[in-house]
Amino acid sequence: MTRHRSLRSRLAGIPARQLLLLLDFDGTLAPIVLRPDRATLPAPVRAVLHRLVRLIPVVVVSGRALGDLRRRVNVPGIRYIASHGLAFKEPRSPVRWLGRRVPRREVLRWVRALRSSAAGIHGALVEDKGWSVALHDRSVHHADRAILRRRVLRALKPWLTNGQAALVRGKRVLEIRPADSWNKGTAVAAVLARPWARNRIPVYLGDDRTDRDAFRTVRGRGLAVRVGGRRGIWDEDAWLASPAAVVSVLTWLTTRREAT
Ligand SMILES: [Mg+2]
Repeated sequence: MTRHRSLRSRLAGIPARQLLLLLDFDGTLAPIVLRPDRATLPAPVRAVLHRLVRLIPVVVVSGRALGDLRRRVNVPGIRYIASHGLAFKEPRSPVRWLGRRVPRREVLRWVRALRSSAAGIHGALVEDKGWSVALHDRSVHHADRAILRRRVLRALKPWLTNGQAALVRGKRVLEIRPADSWNKGTAVAAVLARPWARNRIPVYLGDDRTDRDAFRTVRGRGLAVRVGGRRGIWDEDAWLASPAAVVSVLTWLTTRREAT
C-alpha cells in the first residue's frame, strides 16, 4: 500500500469480510485524563462501537487489566487484549493467557517497592494490576518526577538486574512486569493467527509508545495508524490528530459499511 493515500481511501479499499480493527483504549478511543481511573469512553464512541462490531471484528487493546477494560468499554461482541498483551478475551470464551505470569506474591513485592518509592510524593499513583504494577506520575509535579524515577529504579534494582522483571515506559506511566514476556505486538501476532483472523487485514490505531510493538506486527500486512503526537516520526502508515478524529473515521467507516 502506498503511503500518501488518505486513511479513508485505504480503509475503503479493504473489503468488509477482510477487515479487522484493533483499537487502543486510552488516548485513542478515550481522551487522556489526569487520573487514569477517571477515563471513560465517550457516549458517541460507545454508540459507534455497538454498530461497528456487528459488521467487522473489533479488538480493544490496552495496558489496563481485563476487568477494568471490559467495564470501561462495555460493548457486547468486542474482543479484548488486556494487560499490554498478557490476556486475550473473546465473547463466550475463557481468557487466553498469551504470556508468562509470575506468582502473585512476587507482584505484591513490586507493589510494596513502588508504594515505598512513591511515599511522600504528591500525585504519584501506584496501581496493582494483578500481573504487573503501574506507577502513574501525570499528577506529580515536574520537579518531583525525576526524584520519583530515581527512587523507583533503586527500589526495583534487584529484579531489574537479575533479569526477572522489566520496566516498560508508557505515557506518564512506568510499569513493572515479568521480563521478556509479552507486549501488544506479541499479542496482536497471536490474535492474527486465530482461525477467524488468519485471512484478515489488521488496521491498528494507537497513541502510545507501547503501541509501536503492535505497529511492527501489522506492518506489511495491514495498516498502523498513529493517534496524536508528532506526525511521521513513528513510520506509521497514517496519522490521526486525536480521539475526536478517531471517532470521526470510525463513524464514517460504519455508515459506509452499513450501506453496502
Ligand atoms: Mg493509549
